[in-house]
Amino acid sequence: MDFFQYSASNPLLFLIIVFLVSLSVGSFLNVVIYRLPIMLKQEWKSDCIEFLSKELSTDLKDQKTDSESTFNLSVPRSRCPSCGHKISALENIPVISWLFLRGKCSACGSAISIRYPVIELTTALLSLLVASIYGVQWYTLTGIVLVWALIALSMIDFDTQLLPDNITLPFLWLGILLSLTGISPISLISSVIGAMAGYLSLWTVYQLFKLITGKEGMGFGDFKLLALLGAWLGWQALPMILLLSALVGSIVGISLILILGRDKNIPIPFGPYLASAGFISLLWGKEIQQAYFSFMGL
Ligand SMILES: [Zn+2]
Repeated sequence: MDFFQYSASNPLLFLIIVFLVSLSVGSFLNVVIYRLPIMLKQEWKSDCIEFLSKELSTDLKDQKTDSESTFNLSVPRSRCPSCGHKISALENIPVISWLFLRGKCSACGSAISIRYPVIELTTALLSLLVASIYGVQWYTLTGIVLVWALIALSMIDFDTQLLPDNITLPFLWLGILLSLTGISPISLISSVIGAMAGYLSLWTVYQLFKLITGKEGMGFGDFKLLALLGAWLGWQALPMILLLSALVGSIVGISLILILGRDKNIPIPFGPYLASAGFISLLWGKEIQQAYFSFMGL
């Protein structure tokens, strides 16, 4: 009996497994969200130094020192940012450790951000939602992995205004692959057109906006993210995703300016809104489209 047959007869067990696995993945996403932008910046810096060394025929190698020590997703071990205390395995259990330590470092007592358990719990709950709506099948597992990627992208964009290619591009191609292999319910044509239209629509808006105002309204990461969503959800989902993200984005943006007095000129990342709209579309896209069409009397 394979995993799917067994899970189909034990749906509750399936949901429990999804919840627990996603909870620990949430803990890994915290690491990705924090470290990936730093890794990218180190890479860019060393590329720049290498390029400039050649260009100016000088040796800038001594500038490299701070990126010399290994820093990736697994090395070095996580430490308390205040005192450098190494986080033990027991202190690294998602949500539970944070609650047990009452949000404080066991060595120096400085506060550990509530953001970490919140991201872990959010990852687990959103994955559970996908599992309960789509049931026991391959597409559910891929959809859950997509949700993990969207959470990482949203938070990285929120923190750094970056949407790393290392995440957007592989997931864009994965979306097309899932249609090609029939794992995804989206047809291959819808998926390919979705990827193209997703990229080109925002690219066009960007170019027009730049032409008219001379400013850059969004980044190339946003085009890639919408291409990714088009590849996974089909071109039919794109109008709704754009509409939803513009709606939520402007409500949040205007309230930030009105309530917090935030400067209009500070760029507001668009990625988290695109990602949330994509998530809503993954879960309830069909229902929303049907409701919309029946409302229009079609
Ligand atoms: Zn500490």
